[in-house]
This record gives sequence, structure tokens and C-alpha cells, in this order.
Amino acid sequence: MDFKKVVSHCKEYGFIFQSSEIYDGLAAVYDYGPYGVELKNNIKEYWWKSMTQLHENIVGIDAAIFMHPKTWKASGHVDAFNDPMVDNKDSNKRYRADVLIEEYMDKLDAKVEKEIKKAAKRFGDSFDPVMYKETNPRVKGYLDKKQEVGSRLAKAMTDSDMPELKKIIEDLEIACPVSGSRNWTDVRQFNLMFNTQLGNIAGEEGKLYLRPETAQGIFVNFLNVQKTTRQKLPFGIAQIGKAFRNEIVARQFIFRMREFEQMEMQYFIAPGTQTEWYAFWKEMRLKWHKALGTPEENLRFHDHENLAHYADAAVDIQFNFPFGFKELEGIHSRTDFDLSQHQELSGKKLQYFDPERNENYVPYVVETSIGCDRMFLAAISNSLQEETVPDAEGKESTRIVMKLHPALAPIKAAVLPLLKNKEELTSKAKEVYKKLSLHFPCQYDEKDAIGRRYRRQDAIGTPYCITIDFETLDDDTVTIRDRDSLEQKRVKIDELVSIVSKNVSMSELLESLLQ
Ligand code: ATP
Repeated sequence: MDFKKVVSHCKEYGFIFQSSEIYDGLAAVYDYGPYGVELKNNIKEYWWKSMTQLHENIVGIDAAIFMHPKTWKASGHVDAFNDPMVDNKDSNKRYRADVLIEEYMDKLDAKVEKEIKKAAKRFGDSFDPVMYKETNPRVKGYLDKKQEVGSRLAKAMTDSDMPELKKIIEDLEIACPVSGSRNWTDVRQFNLMFNTQLGNIAGEEGKLYLRPETAQGIFVNFLNVQKTTRQKLPFGIAQIGKAFRNEIVARQFIFRMREFEQMEMQYFIAPGTQTEWYAFWKEMRLKWHKALGTPEENLRFHDHENLAHYADAAVDIQFNFPFGFKELEGIHSRTDFDLSQHQELSGKKLQYFDPERNENYVPYVVETSIGCDRMFLAAISNSLQEETVPDAEGKESTRIVMKLHPALAPIKAAVLPLLKNKEELTSKAKEVYKKLSLHFPCQYDEKDAIGRRYRRQDAIGTPYCITIDFETLDDDTVTIRDRDSLEQKRVKIDELVSIVSKNVSMSELLESLLQ
């Protein structure tokens, strides 16, 4: 669905509001509304349980946002957590230099796609896109150009070569999308960490950072956790928590925020086994996404060309957002970089005694890191659909429906008395509502015609609508309507808890990960 529609739907139906909206908002900061918080909690529950409950060697922690400032020196964030920034002198708009170049590369990709579509039409069934890409001079030209630009960008980023980034922008004649001019400032490094002061200690001494990632809280607690839970390698530590980044350009709604939430898991392993565990976690994480019903063609791996200072291998799981394939999750092989750094700066040993190898060493780490908010956006954009369906009288009508996996849906069932002004129906419906509310989040709704009430529930992704009518008063049966198939069945009130619970169950979703 169109991105603008996704954004306005989130606001209209109480999923996401702009932060401090009455003061015209705060850029790239958002609040989750009543349905948003339920969906977000369900995403977190799915992730948390899949990590900690399904793996006996993964445990959780909840570390503080503030950490000793030396943490960020050790991790490399003080010196190297920068993005290259460039301003257009005519529009005064600020951009990330690497993103401007990546967008240029995306345009080359789009040109290739267009040529391929045109040729496929021309040649019909006999068309071979692979051969066409290799032989058509125009398409080959675009692809070679993309390759060349990609290598230059990767090298400039790895070398932190700001003049070269500026040169690439100039060579490609990239113009500001707002002013259309190519009047750029020099490219400068910009550190993304927010800082604040500790108590009444002034100056550098009291400088504290808001954590830009949750991972470091895990690294510094590595020995605490290993010893208190008597873990042997390999073992993992999982954490969900807020992270803060002073992003240069924050667009695209909750895709890039300044305050966001991460779900990270660091898996501590013996040196030399990282290739095997990296492959294992790549597969596990893709499975986690697919179990939600996300179509395979909307997910893909993307290997990093320019590796971060700590990694020996890194891949993104990209999702096909309404604005194209973008990073949803990262899987990184971080070597012993972080633990060794903390060992050095703290002067405390962060080693593990391996009884099988009969030696002490600093473990290696493979991490999986996903943004909860990006996952939220992926879940919503994947499931929000506009459909033509028959209405109550059998006429065609359109409906907006959010086909979320039932285990993620904010409300599991809505209880609807057929008529609002019949006391016997409403009191029976309230009774059913109370009974079901003990088991899962439900909603009672008596306002408007039944068709409109169904539409409201479709729009927030409620898997079941339960209608109480006159027959209910005679024989304690109700109709239960399925959000996706629209099928309506008559069932006993006593069966409702088990029917709904089974289909919205988090355990069933988790079980599908074991197959
Ligand atoms: P990007 O290249 O998009 O800036 P990144 O590579 O810096 O992301 P990581 O440091 O690997 O991201 O962070 C892990 C995950 O945290 C990302 O895959 C993403 O889901 C999430 N994330 C990172 N930055 C943001 C942000 N500003 N807003 C929302 N989620 C974010």
C-alpha cells in the first residue's frame, strides 16, 4: 500500500502519534497509541520468547540507558560513530552524503528494471533477463556504473575520506532534490550520540551519553551473566531497550527515529567458530520473519560492502518497505573487538575458561540486532490492504483490512450486540465480553450498524468479530466472523475461549519456528 496511506492509517486508528503534536511535534520522535502499544508489545514478546524461551542457553537482561562514559570510548562510538553530512547552500537542506550516493545507485537500479520490463514485453516468453543484463549495452552500462560508484563509496566510507565523498557527489552531478542546485558545502563527519551531564559535575568529566545501541550493556555484563547463570560457551544474552541517535536526516516516519527501541542478542562463542554461528543466526532470523507470513519475495539478505570497525562479516535482512528494500535487521560477526576493548579500558579481565580447550580466551561474538519500530513498520506495511468484498447486502464494497498475524494483533476479538437499544442483547454481549477479557484483549462495541463495526475492527486487524443476536438468547450460540476469509460460523459461547485462544496463540507461532 502507498506509504502516505500507511502513515495516515497509523494516526487515524490510534497506532502512532507524532511526539508533542500540540506543539507541532518533535522531528523523528513518535508516541505509540493504544493499538500501537499492543502491537509493539506483541512483537517484543514474539522476539523475546523466541530468543530466551526457545534457547536454553540464551538469557535476558535489562541494562540502564546511561553507562560509564568510558564504555563509548572503548566501543569506538566516541571516535567513529559518525555519519558524513553535507548541506545544500541554496536550500539549506542537510543530507547524509552516503545516502545521496546510494539514492543515485537506486536510480540506476530502477533504470535497469525499466529496461528489463520493456524488453520482457517486446520478446514475450522467450525473454531471458539474465542474458539480457549481460549483453544489452545500455543495461550493462547502468550496472557497471553502479558497481563502480558502489566500490568508490565503500572505500571512501571505510577510509573516512570526506573529500572523496564530496568528489563522488560532484562527479555524479547529484543535485539537491529541493533546490535542484549542485551548490554543496564540504562533507563533514557528524557524531550521532546525544549527550547530557551527570549531576552537578561540569565539563567533560560529567559528560554522559544516551546509549546509541543496547549491545554495550550486554558486553560489560558478560561475566556477571556467565557466572551467575553458570553458562558454558556458546551462550547468548538478549535485551530489548531504547537507543538514541541524533540522525542527520530523519525521514520516512518510524523507519529512522532519534529515539527508538532495539532488540539485540549477543551470542558468545569460541574463536574460530564464527563462520558457522553467523550462518546459523542468518537462517534463524530469516525463519523468524517468515513465520509471521511475510512473503519470501519481500525479504532479502544484503551483504555489507563497507564493514563497521568491529565486524569481520555483516549482513542486513532487508524488507520491501513501501519506499523500497531497506535494512530491517543486522546480523554481525563482531569478533572479540568489544570484549577486548572493554578489557583494555577497564583493566578487568573479560575472559572465559574453556574446559574442553583447557585455555582462557576472550570470546567471539555474533549478534542479531533488529529495530522494534522498523519491525512494527514492516508488520503494518506488509499487512495493510485495500480489498473489494461483498457487504451485508451482497453488494461490492471496499474495505481497509490489516491482515496481521493473529498472534500480533492488538485486539483479538470484538464482541458486538446486533442492536444497541435492546437491553437483553447488550447485557448478554457484555457478559461474553467480560468472560473473554480474562483470556485475551477484547473490545465491546455497540455503536453504528454492524457492517461499520466490522470495518472498524478490520482496520485495526482484529482477527475475530463475535455477534450476539436474538438466537443467542435462546440457545447460547453466537456468530464468529473471520477477518480474512469473512466466513461466519455459529458456535456455542462456551467454545469461544478455546477457538480464539488457539488461533491467536503465541505458542503456536513459536512452535512454527521449531519445524
Ligand atoms: P542504518 O544504516 O539504517 O542507519 P544501522 O546499520 O546504523 O542502520 P544498526 O546500528 O545495525 O543500524 O542497528 C540495528 C538495527 O536498529 C537496524 O537494523 C534498525 O532496525 C534499527 N535502527 C537503527 N537506527 C535506527 C533509527 N534511527 N530508527 C529506528 N531504528 C533504527
